[in-house]
Amino acid sequence: MARYTGSVCKLCRREKQKLFLKGQKCLSEKCPIEKRNYPPGQHGSSRRSKISEYGVQLREKQKIKRIYGVLETQFHNSFEKASRQKGITGDNLVKLLERRLDNVVYRLGFAPSRKSARQLVRHRHIIVNEILVDIPSYIVVPGDVIKVKEKSKKLESIHNSLKRTKDTQFSWLQVDKAALSGTFVQVPERTEIPLNANEQLVVELYSK
Ligand code: SF4
Repeated sequence: MARYTGSVCKLCRREKQKLFLKGQKCLSEKCPIEKRNYPPGQHGSSRRSKISEYGVQLREKQKIKRIYGVLETQFHNSFEKASRQKGITGDNLVKLLERRLDNVVYRLGFAPSRKSARQLVRHRHIIVNEILVDIPSYIVVPGDVIKVKEKSKKLESIHNSLKRTKDTQFSWLQVDKAALSGTFVQVPERTEIPLNANEQLVVELYSK
């Protein structure tokens, strides 16, 4: 399936919530959802159709997929993996998505959005435990050290992104901004992960 190439801000408006897909713009007044928090299209602001239970579940799945920038097949594979693990499937799913390398690079502050983080990984700027990894869906494990490759340390985009991030944002990550390096200390609890979504609806959707 092809990746979505239209306006990503429309995706936020469709979900009527900020999905933080555009880096710095999402935190500024330029974010369109600040002024137009209704679905895109000519009748977006006046449409009041009742949404079915299936529709609600589907929207929630689309939302989580879009936040993490994951395509349908990958998302479904993550769900399958989550359902085979011990514990609550919905929690496991979010924890798995959170452990994707592109997401970790974003959370460490090396990139302003998950999309930019994915590019950093694909363009071979990131190493994990001293080995170059160019697979955004690579799942990190506790103790993994994620670094910017020596030759890529001058990349302005990384430094600009780091300047805007706080030092201790996430308890499960340790960041050394000077060394452009970070450690994935432990798998976070679902309650620690800042994700405004109800993954249980996804479980219900896939259980049909
Ligand atoms: Fe969404 Fe960011 Fe666009 Fe705002 S600026 S609508 S949060 S992608």
